[in-house]
Amino acid sequence: MTRRYLGKPENPWGLLFQASSAPLFGIALIIRRFLGAMRLHHLVSVYLNCAILAAAAAQSCGSEGVAVQVLGSGGPELQDKRASSSYLVWEDGRARALVDAGGGSALRFGESGAQMSQLDVLLFTHFHVDHSADFPALIKSSWFEDRTRPLPIYGPVGNDFMPSTTEFVNDFFGEKRGAYRYLSELLVPGEKSSYKILPHNVVGSTKPTAVFRSGDLAVSAVRVVHGQVPALAWRIELGNKVIVFSGDTNGEDGGLTQLATNADLFIAHNAVPEDAAGIERSLHMPPSIIGQIAGNAHVRHLVLSHRMLRTLGTENQTQSEIKKRFSGPVEFANDLDCFPVR
Ligand SMILES: [Zn+2]
Repeated sequence: MTRRYLGKPENPWGLLFQASSAPLFGIALIIRRFLGAMRLHHLVSVYLNCAILAAAAAQSCGSEGVAVQVLGSGGPELQDKRASSSYLVWEDGRARALVDAGGGSALRFGESGAQMSQLDVLLFTHFHVDHSADFPALIKSSWFEDRTRPLPIYGPVGNDFMPSTTEFVNDFFGEKRGAYRYLSELLVPGEKSSYKILPHNVVGSTKPTAVFRSGDLAVSAVRVVHGQVPALAWRIELGNKVIVFSGDTNGEDGGLTQLATNADLFIAHNAVPEDAAGIERSLHMPPSIIGQIAGNAHVRHLVLSHRMLRTLGTENQTQSEIKKRFSGPVEFANDLDCFPVR
């Protein structure tokens, strides 16, 4: 089942009002005119105003405190009817960090109400298509904003199969060979532009390494195992809140448990069911491993994302495997879900 709502699952207004509030005002006006003739105007008007206010409120994830908004809760398959992997970290109404930018996430970014000019940093877990395809769309959109400060981008190193983060960014915006070289001024030093993209390669290790800091935002990473693809898991500390993103990994190596230690929110990728074998198991962690890591790391709240056709519908089994090893709350993510970090 694919649900789209803008608030927490327990928020009924979020389920009722999925679209922008703008059309609601138009609809409300028509209904009011109709009901005005029936002398029910006042009562219904109060109801509609409440509904519209609730819908508008539900659209602002993280307006107070720290929250994570899931821009993409799916994997690479389009038939999951979800955007691919992407997460936005909000603080007091400002989008501070973006983790991954899979296909469809640029549209969700717009729907979230965020601005590219708000971001302190963009982090990539790895460069599979379902984690990175909307990157140029986001950058092009930023062109129309008034960003002036540089945008740091951090992601893994490369190997024979995958580009490094600097190569990936240059493959799009490099002056000579970039596919979108018409935007090279964003990347090339000395060219006049409103702001610069600053890509960095993170080697990472099995021990958490500090990567970036900006004000009260601190970012660290560990290297994780995802087949032959260089991949990172990210930890974001914001104020006194800690959020950890597993990215895609089979859960080997132990670094992820250390990175996730005492996290307030752990977002793990539920890409395979418990009985996964072969290549898919060598790339992804089954629910028992997710539960083990969440339990050993003593995380406070677990959210499962990167849901694929092979795991959609297996939620009960997934939940029971996790509950054997982790006693905290477990939730399944949908696009645009907002998870306040408490
Ligand atoms: Zn993936």
